[in-house]
Amino acid sequence: MDCLFCKIISGDIPSAKVYEDDTVYAFKDINPMAPVHILIVPKTHISSVNDITAENSTVVSHIFEVAAILAKDLGISESGYRVVSNCGADAGQSVFHLHFHLLGGKQLKLEMC
Ligand code: AMP
Ligand code: ZN
Repeated sequence: MDCLFCKIISGDIPSAKVYEDDTVYAFKDINPMAPVHILIVPKTHISSVNDITAENSTVVSHIFEVAAILAKDLGISESGYRVVSNCGADAGQSVFHLHFHLLGGKQLKLEMC
């Protein structure tokens, strides 16, 4: 499968890794929108939120556990942060491997859309 994030997870494409375990990989976004901008992805290929099911959703709750750990480690748990996943064209999804942006380290725009 020609998937950028699968290649990052396998190490075929380099990344600035900040966390890895059996099911989740996290790395710095190459085009950061905030002082802290991390992408947290499942190691299994899931294309988007559209493809989250009862069978694979455990990894999503685990991603949020990892988000909380990383927010604390990166010093933004008290100042605040946003966790967001873009799904499809109207949301501007550009990589079709499920990922959650962890954004913080500055006052984020209050507009959600
Ligand atoms: P989205 O637009 O929500 O699909 O998010 C995709 C994100 O992947 C964007 O914020 C990109 O900056 C980021 N991105 C694309 N290529 C890379 C890469 N090679 N390493 C790290 N982040 C990347
Ligand atoms: Zn993939």
